[in-house]
Amino acid sequence: MISLEHLCKTFEGGSEVHALNDVSLTIPTGDVFGIIGISGAGKSTLVRCLNLLERPTSGRVVVDGTDVTNLKGAALREYRRHVAMIFQGFGLLAQKTALENVCFPYLASTGKVTAENREEALGYLDRVGLADRASSYPAQLSGGQKQRVAIARALACHPDYILCDEATSALDPASTASVLRLLHTINAETGVTIIVITHSMQVVEDICKDVAVLVSGKVVEQGSVAEVFANPQHEVTRQLLGKES
Ligand code: ATP
Ligand code: MG
Repeated sequence: MISLEHLCKTFEGGSEVHALNDVSLTIPTGDVFGIIGISGAGKSTLVRCLNLLERPTSGRVVVDGTDVTNLKGAALREYRRHVAMIFQGFGLLAQKTALENVCFPYLASTGKVTAENREEALGYLDRVGLADRASSYPAQLSGGQKQRVAIARALACHPDYILCDEATSALDPASTASVLRLLHTINAETGVTIIVITHSMQVVEDICKDVAVLVSGKVVEQGSVAEVFANPQHEVTRQLLGKES
């Protein structure tokens, strides 16, 4: 379970930006949790604070009972192994094949790739339907295929949590649907908790169980997707759902 407790993130600069302004949220283990909100609402900042790519200005991130907010060094690296991130740019290494990309987490954590690692990685590529493209380079793959390689690579980290920031927004509707079905199946099979940031209400409706709505760095509404979508309380939620009143 992830608990965000009174999380604030302020960016200094010409003028202060309160990207997150007292966010408290609970994300249950095994959930597929959607975070929605208009551009600039603070969604990416929230997930970046979650995997500590960004340090919160104040508040706490508590994961499975451990306060991870101030982890450093080896403990931080260990924590990040449990929290895989998939994002829009795919983040694949261009000079490496699909298989080498999926093997990269082993290389990064142990300095080598064993025969068992390669076998496991091939299993993940098979899992995402790309066993026959193991030796293709990212440039030779479609957007949806690249995204699936990124998912296979995330699985190679044996994560407890997968964070997807606009993971499908560069894809056409058919590829989006297949990537999301895949994430949904992986959640059902492995129980991995998935946090999905998206502009697509359809995506939330299709795969998320719970949802939180961010407005100007604050959670204005949260609950089960069924409840929130049937009876949105906040005007921004209604706007996002195309139910302006
Ligand atoms: P989008 O839907 O467009 O991706 P978002 O909800 O992910 O938007 P964030 O990227 O979290 O929004 O940004 C929230 C606010 O914080 C914005 O006002 C943004 O300009 C600001 N911000 C984000 N990162 C930084 C940074 N590194 N330095 C200064 N301001 C930042
Ligand atoms: Mg964003």
